[in-house]
Amino acid sequence: MGFEEVRFEKDSDKAIQNKPLQKALVNVTDRFRSARNKASSEVPGWEELRSNVREIKKNTIENLDKYLTLLEENVIKSGGRVHWAKDADEASQIIVNIANERNVKSVVKSKSMATEEIDLNSSFESAGIKVVETDLGEYIIQLAGEHPSHIIAPAIHKTKDDISKLFSEKLGIPHYENPEELTKVAREKLRSEFLNADMGVSGANFAVAETGTIVVVENEGNARLTTTVPKIHVALVGIEKLIPRYEDLSMFLTILARSATGQKSSTYVSFITGPKKPSDIEGPEEFHLVLLDNGRSGVLASEETRESLYCIRCGACLNNCPVYRHVGGHSYGSVYSGPIGAIITPQLMGIDKAAELPFASSLCGACHDVCPVKIDFPKVLLTLRKRIVKSRKLSVKNTKDIIEKLGIKFWRFTVLNNSIYKITNKLLYYLQTPWKESNGKLKSLPYPFSRWTDQRDFPSVAKRTFRDRWKERRGQMG
Ligand code: SF4
Repeated sequence: MGFEEVRFEKDSDKAIQNKPLQKALVNVTDRFRSARNKASSEVPGWEELRSNVREIKKNTIENLDKYLTLLEENVIKSGGRVHWAKDADEASQIIVNIANERNVKSVVKSKSMATEEIDLNSSFESAGIKVVETDLGEYIIQLAGEHPSHIIAPAIHKTKDDISKLFSEKLGIPHYENPEELTKVAREKLRSEFLNADMGVSGANFAVAETGTIVVVENEGNARLTTTVPKIHVALVGIEKLIPRYEDLSMFLTILARSATGQKSSTYVSFITGPKKPSDIEGPEEFHLVLLDNGRSGVLASEETRESLYCIRCGACLNNCPVYRHVGGHSYGSVYSGPIGAIITPQLMGIDKAAELPFASSLCGACHDVCPVKIDFPKVLLTLRKRIVKSRKLSVKNTKDIIEKLGIKFWRFTVLNNSIYKITNKLLYYLQTPWKESNGKLKSLPYPFSRWTDQRDFPSVAKRTFRDRWKERRGQMG
């Protein structure tokens, strides 16, 4: 399954100790952040543009049934075939069946989060079909047998040295230091894969309902080759990727490239409407569009969290998230990481399977500030947290929860009563002595308080309360 087990606390702890990972994360996300900030500041009316694309997504998601039907009609009209997949298994089965019925032996794939989500590569491999990732980052990840750790930069966690060692070990080449040489090796290997592939599989950034066109945005040209060289093209697209009209695309393309990489436009933007026409020189003979639900209608059903489906997968929220920038993508245990992973994974997987994720946020709102479709992350995260706490109430078997709850009740009682607060403050001030460090911070406290202090710099209790100091200062000032 593209979704692994979510063990955020454990995995993020490991990631924080990993120094090369920390360096790689800061380097790449810093680069993306400043490029995005510069690019957005150069567009007059950027905020208005964000509001407009949000409105279009809102309208599309609220009328998804109508637009999906329209998309299906138009894909069929243009000579394509449409398949509906309710979950990951069904989607994989549909695609593997298309391949088997046509005696497909090898498949090339361009980068697609939806195919990662359903772990399509494993299904191809189980069916004895060779599958090769053709996006450079995805190719590296496939060679390493790993999962992507960023929506647009799947191998963000790998250093140049890691890649050099990996290529040498898996492809039997010398240790090349130079990224250009490494890219050249990948390009040569992949070129022959494109020419020999029977089928190409892609995702799509957008699917236009009124024309039945899918739009693929990329920088390497591999998606264009994947969708045009093999005789069969299959596109796996989440049902939320719809936009109603062709003319809406100019706004989405303007905002997507700038939010993702800070480019004015991605290097290649392919518009695919059905298979090759008689007048076309090249292109696939068959075009299949597989529309994936896999939990999305469940998200759609909730008015409070529905906006999670507006995402256009630009990755800006990841690059700006203080949590993601420290723990990296693999800590989220899902193909979707960072703030969007923290809200979408629990909704797609089931809240019980990813209950740690909505808490993997400081609620600083940096994601909300940069998201091109203005997803209100703090609101959605708090809604999900409430759901999790509520579901736990039903089975209060968890000691940790009981202790935390009692602690919070005690804290509430204390802060609501001034004299008790003062006494508690004095008591804590003396009780903390064995754990107090010279810099005014606390060492890790024993359980159950260790849950608060193990991974945080926790300030010690001050001798005098803020109120006392305030009173004194006001007195001094007359
Ligand atoms: S949630 Fe917003 S910022 Fe994050 S990937 Fe999606 S569109 Fe981009």
